[in-house]
Amino acid sequence: MLSRRLLLSLPAVALFAATLPARATEPLPVVASFSILGDLVAQIAGPAAAVKVLVGPDGDAHVYQPSPADAKAVAGAKLIFLNGLGFEGWMSRLLKSSGTKGKAITVTQGITPRAAAKDGHGHGNVDPHAWQDVGNVHVMVATIATALADADAANADAYKARAAAYRAELDALDAEITAQVSALTPAQRRVITSHDAFGYYGKAYGVSFHAPQGMNTDSEASAKDVARLISQIRKEKIKAVFVENISDPRLTQQLATEAGATIGGALYSDALSPASGPAPSYLTMMRHNTKMLIAGMIKN
Ligand SMILES: [Zn+2]
Repeated sequence: MLSRRLLLSLPAVALFAATLPARATEPLPVVASFSILGDLVAQIAGPAAAVKVLVGPDGDAHVYQPSPADAKAVAGAKLIFLNGLGFEGWMSRLLKSSGTKGKAITVTQGITPRAAAKDGHGHGNVDPHAWQDVGNVHVMVATIATALADADAANADAYKARAAAYRAELDALDAEITAQVSALTPAQRRVITSHDAFGYYGKAYGVSFHAPQGMNTDSEASAKDVARLISQIRKEKIKAVFVENISDPRLTQQLATEAGATIGGALYSDALSPASGPAPSYLTMMRHNTKMLIAGMIKN
């Protein structure tokens, strides 16, 4: 047994400290392209990884321009998580220019993409907003947990346990949304939003969404599309009209005014709110959006 005197002697303490593996307590450096994905990664990683988010709360990832600080974060990351399906068109250039040795993980791998609406924009494209269906997030969480466990074997069990716990929360969320939307008549389930970001939600939960702008916010809504939507709102008397946290609200406001409807509030489509807002995590975002949507659709 070591003597008390030896334990307290400074050189012994220093020697002991020097033999500790220095990296053991350092969290795994990972990057997530946008805030919603950043939350999912952080939920599964817990304290074992440090998650840097590139496009932050209320940011528009469709039209984002990466900064030198982003390139530095990507360069130092062991894993870089991205949505894919054409959502972050700037990501492939950023990965190349950063010179990163980190592994890029596309979290929508294994998900069946929804095709672009035939009557709208984006012919031949797929809808990138896969996170709006909780079922797709199940698949993403499995991909995230596997990537983290492969990159950081020492914490593999912790990642898997956190993923299992989070998937139970997703199941509860999914059941909640299904029950709430099912309480409305099919005719009530019609919504107008700024851009076409809720197709997966609509398909999963039985809501019909219409938007003046296509799936990508870099294209402007055409006058023809806006006019068509105004006549549709008037004819079908749609009361559920929403702006989005990432979009300029003016077009939707103009649309609502001309169609004689009122704006039901802001939905969180492609980004979370800041911590002080109503949607600082994926789970709170989906609950907030559903609450707003139900309040709007009940007036239809
Ligand atoms: Zn979008």
